[in-house]
Amino acid sequence: MYGQGIAKGLWITFKHFVNTYVDDLRYAGRKYISDDNFEIRQSPKSQGAYTVQYPDEKIAVPERFRFTPFLVVYDHDDEERPGQDWCTSCGICAKVCPPQCIWIVRGQDPNTGRPVPEPEAFFIDIDICMNCGYCAEFCPFDAIKMDHDYEMASYDRTTTHIHDKERLSKEFSYWKSIAPTRAYEEMEARGGWDHKDIQKEKAKAAKAAASAAQAEAAPTSDQPAAQAAAPEQANGASDADKAKAERLAKREAALARKRAREEQGEG
Ligand code: SF4
Ligand code: SF4
Repeated sequence: MYGQGIAKGLWITFKHFVNTYVDDLRYAGRKYISDDNFEIRQSPKSQGAYTVQYPDEKIAVPERFRFTPFLVVYDHDDEERPGQDWCTSCGICAKVCPPQCIWIVRGQDPNTGRPVPEPEAFFIDIDICMNCGYCAEFCPFDAIKMDHDYEMASYDRTTTHIHDKERLSKEFSYWKSIAPTRAYEEMEARGGWDHKDIQKEKAKAAKAAASAAQAEAAPTSDQPAAQAAAPEQANGASDADKAKAERLAKREAALARKRAREEQGEG
């Protein structure tokens, strides 16, 4: 029948219209007052249409929401590495960025001039960034993440929209707060909450400490054997020296014979 679709659509709109007032009555006017009710208004429990008093109220974004990228740094109150960059300035994010809006200046050791694994400068042109998230997906060190902060309007679209390292850097605890599930999955993949390289360093230090402790504990039982082996080693060294001296002497003798033959030939 003609117009059935239109009638259905209008019926849905009418239901929403009525439900909005039903919901208002259910909360007896408190629907727009407390933060708890704001949560309910955003939930599937809510009925009808509702408005948000932006910017005082903001609709919660899902965990996988992504806007512009930010750089992860250790928390400023971290005891061992306060504020240390997670970025190693490997440059992979800049390479994979489709619109090429990332610029990185690699750090250098001031004494040796050799490159160090941290960025001296890092820029992202936020106006060019298309929020694809490739940089975050490809970063091998979990050092760049997609932010939930979408309020970036400003009156100046030149320098303000080119985010530098200071503006881009955010604490690791911030990443955990906006994306707890993701951060936990990444931690499991890395094998710990620390940066990959720091974990490697710690594992190396633990190994070295374990072998040093083992070496310290060993002398009581191994010392006599080591002492017995020492003269043998000395003998071995002196035998090798003797053989070398013999070889040199033979070579000298052969050279002398050759020279003598040549002199006789000339004579
Ligand atoms: S890919 Fe990650 S570690 Fe490499 S430069 Fe980009 S943010 Fe830094
Ligand atoms: S989100 Fe996409 S466009 Fe934006 S900086 Fe990362 S890779 Fe480039």
